[in-house]
Amino acid sequence: MKTSAGCRVAIITSRISDGKACVLANYRGKGHRDLKAAYQFLTPRTENENPFLHDAAQCSIAAPFIFRTKSLPGFGLLQDGGVRANNPLAIGLKESTVIWPLAKTHDLLLSVGTGRSSFMAKQDKASRSFWRDSAIPRMIRATMSSPSMDGEQGFHEALNLVPDDKKPNIFRLNHEVSEALPRLDDVSRLAEMSKMRFAVPDELVRAILVTAFFFFELDGQPIKKHGVYFCQGSILCSRSYAKDLVKKVMVEFPGARFQTARGHHLGDVVEDDSCHLCGYYRKEVNFSVNGLDEMTTIGIAGSSFFQRIGGFPKSVQELLEDQQANSHFGREDHLVDCWPPKRNCYCPPRTKRQVEFQEPALEHKKRRL
Ligand SMILES: [Zn+2]
Repeated sequence: MKTSAGCRVAIITSRISDGKACVLANYRGKGHRDLKAAYQFLTPRTENENPFLHDAAQCSIAAPFIFRTKSLPGFGLLQDGGVRANNPLAIGLKESTVIWPLAKTHDLLLSVGTGRSSFMAKQDKASRSFWRDSAIPRMIRATMSSPSMDGEQGFHEALNLVPDDKKPNIFRLNHEVSEALPRLDDVSRLAEMSKMRFAVPDELVRAILVTAFFFFELDGQPIKKHGVYFCQGSILCSRSYAKDLVKKVMVEFPGARFQTARGHHLGDVVEDDSCHLCGYYRKEVNFSVNGLDEMTTIGIAGSSFFQRIGGFPKSVQELLEDQQANSHFGREDHLVDCWPPKRNCYCPPRTKRQVEFQEPALEHKKRRL
C-alpha cells in the first residue's frame, strides 16, 4: 500500500540453518508481534546489517539447485523463501495487522503469480508404469506440487485457512502457460514470455478502482433525531490524481453513483467533486442508521455492479473509533488531533490578485483648465 511513508515492501526468505521463514522489510516492523510466530522478522541492529534491496532479493530467489545462497551480515546464510512459504499470503495478512493495528482486516489482497501450467499434470496422467508409481518418483512429484515448490498450490492452501467472509477481498492473478514452465534460471525464454498477454479480470479492475482508492470519513458526531442517527461525512480519495480515477470509474460503472448497500442513493460520481488545481477529492454525503452499532456499507453502484469503497462494512461506532473522535487527550497514533476534521484541498489559501492599473494615455486624461 502506498502511503505518505512510501510503499512498504517485505521480502520473504528462509534461514538455511533451520529452514525458518524470515522477513526482510523496508519498514521497522515495530508493533505487537507474536513471539511464537511461524516466521521471523529480521530487524537490522546496525547500519551494516541493513541490506540493500538487491541483496534481499538475491536471498529470496536462491532456490536450491539453481542459485547460490546469500549471506547477510548479522543474519547468516539465507535462501529462497519459497522453501517455506512459496506464497506469502499468510505472512502478508499477519504483517498488515502489525503495520495497521487499527484496521481490523485487509481491504484487498492481490496475489500475483509468475505463471502456471497444467502441462506436467497432463503428461503424468498419460503415462503410468511400475517405476513411476514407486516411492521415490511419488515423493518427487508430491514435493514438486507442494506449497514449497508450487506457488499456485501454496496460495490455495493458505486460502483454506482464511475465514469465508474475508475471501471475497482476496484476488489471485496468474498467467496460464500452455507449455511446461521454464526453469527459474532460463533467461532465454524471457523475451518470448514478455510478449504474452496478461489479462486482468474486470472484477479486479473494479475492486482496485473503488475499494483501493476511495474511503469514507465522518465530518462530525452523528445526530439522533426521531429514533435514527443522521450521519454527515465525506467520501475521499487516497490518490492525488482523483480526476483520472473518477473518469475510469465512470467508464467501468455506467451510471456510477455512490449508494449504501441498502440502496440509499448518495449522489452521482462526477468529476466536479475533485479540485481542478490540486486534484483533492471530496464528495459530501448524508445517510442515516438505526443504531450506532448497525453495520453499513457505502459503495459505488452502476447499472449492474456494486463495489464497496475501502473500509466497509463498518458500523458508525467503528468509524468514530477509527477517527478517534473521542480522543480528548491526543490520538494514539499521533496523527493531527482535529475533530471535527477540517476538509481543505491542498491549494494554498487564495490571495487577492494583484492588479496593476496602467495610467491611461495622456490624451485620454481629462484636462483641467
Ligand atoms: Zn485544490
